[in-house]
Amino acid sequence: MKRPQRVAVVGAGLGGLSAAHAIRRRAAEQGRRLDLEVWEASERPGGQLMSVREDGFLIEWAANAFRTGLGPTADLVGRLGLQAEQVHADRAAERRFVFHGGRLHLLPSDPISLLSFAPMSPEGRLRVMAEPFLAQRVDHEESVHDYAARHIGPEAAEVLLGTLVRGIYGGDARKLSVDAAFPIMREMERDHRSLVVAGIAGMPERMREGKTTWSFRGGMQVLIERLTEDLEGAVRTGTPACSLARDPGSDGYLLTSRDGVARAFDTVVLALPPGAAADLVEPLDATIAEEIDGIPSAPIGMVAFGFEREAFGTPPDGFGFLVAPGEDVPVLGTLVESNVFPERAPPGTVLVRAIMGGVAQPDLDDRSDAEREALALEAIDRAWGVKRAPLRSWVGRQRRGIPQYVLGHLTRMGRIAERLQRLPGLHLAGNAYRGIAVGKLVDDAELVADALWAASPVAQAAPVR
Ligand SMILES: Cc1cc2nc3c(=O)[nH]c(=O)nc-3n(C[C@H](O)[C@H](O)[C@H](O)COP(=O)(O)OP(=O)(O)OC[C@H]3O[C@@H](n4cnc5c(N)ncnc54)[C@H](O)[C@@H]3O)c2cc1C
Repeated sequence: MKRPQRVAVVGAGLGGLSAAHAIRRRAAEQGRRLDLEVWEASERPGGQLMSVREDGFLIEWAANAFRTGLGPTADLVGRLGLQAEQVHADRAAERRFVFHGGRLHLLPSDPISLLSFAPMSPEGRLRVMAEPFLAQRVDHEESVHDYAARHIGPEAAEVLLGTLVRGIYGGDARKLSVDAAFPIMREMERDHRSLVVAGIAGMPERMREGKTTWSFRGGMQVLIERLTEDLEGAVRTGTPACSLARDPGSDGYLLTSRDGVARAFDTVVLALPPGAAADLVEPLDATIAEEIDGIPSAPIGMVAFGFEREAFGTPPDGFGFLVAPGEDVPVLGTLVESNVFPERAPPGTVLVRAIMGGVAQPDLDDRSDAEREALALEAIDRAWGVKRAPLRSWVGRQRRGIPQYVLGHLTRMGRIAERLQRLPGLHLAGNAYRGIAVGKLVDDAELVADALWAASPVAQAAPVR
């Protein structure tokens, strides 16, 4: 009988945990024997994802929700028995705002509402309407801004896409690659030429897929806890991977933690922030390490406030607001968490979370918690007028922030994949490579598991029954 395949997943963020889950499930489905360990440097699994419940408020440190329909995430939730824990965003949260020209504007959700969207000139709005007549296919990589400007005109590209890219990536639409950061946009162009036509043609499929915004009653932490539990003791917290080397005794790898004892694995999945992955890969292949290290990240911070409902001049409406590029407001946007998921704040209160930092605020790490809190409060005051001080606040830092898929990201990924062929059994997972959204990480985990078992020398032997 063949010995079990020894697999190490390094990093227990959502990327690592969902990869470990997918690897284990495939092994069970194919009747393969597996010896799995998940190494996590910190004392808790989850990485950026963390939910905290205090004084009746539920605070998220990173993602607060999924935006997915049918597919790997829904399947995962079903397998983990978490359906009863799911909560869906309130309909009120469909209203989203942009802070532009010193005040809030409702983001247009259809062509009719675009006609009265004040942040854009009448010519700019008409240019968006002309998209189906002017759109063309392009077969080279472009920035998000250039792509959007070709389709909907430079003004809408700046106001709409520029704002969206700041809100999602903390990034710059002129630097991010549309092909890497928003591949769906390139697919829409390839299949339908026009985005408007693609939007109409894709309606039946979108309705079938039923994409909604949803989370768990106890926050995203519920998923982390349930995944960890499901991995039945495989997750080892307080266990940083300190070095990685080829195992001279096999085709595999030696992984060493703080205790200095090398452990042998056939396969290693690095589900780490780019800098940490590059440090481990460096002794194996300095070129891959340099490529991974070249993936930039933007620092992100968040400040959450619990307010009395009467604390505002204007009650915070809808999902919250994103700040348009060029506005003198010290946050990327704010989410009114208690409008999205009302059970996340006690009755009579409002929970608001401001997200700050990004590529436009690289000095974020130098700011103290008190300074961040003051900046966040200033932004909230400018939007809704704060009449009474918040009941309490929470300040969070995500020093590693959000990876930026800048122009050239896909060719960089191609070069990494080519060189990784010389290191069979070594895989990369997590948000630095193929998608930052939590739903994308779950999708990607399936691909990582497929690649791992397809390439595994032990797996190529006859399955054990
Ligand atoms: C403020 C903020 C808001 C966000 N909002 C949303 C949202 O609304 N929707 C959405 O879809 N996404 C959102 N995201 C993105 C999403 O939350 C992240 O992309 C995702 O959680 C990252 O998971 P990961 O596993 O790739 O990385 P991480 O969570 O960073 O996990 C990496 C893990 O590796 C560990 N590690 C590091 N070095 C070592 C080592 N040497 N050995 C062992 N372990 C190590 C770390 O401790 C960490 O646990 C947000 C992100 C942030 C920061």
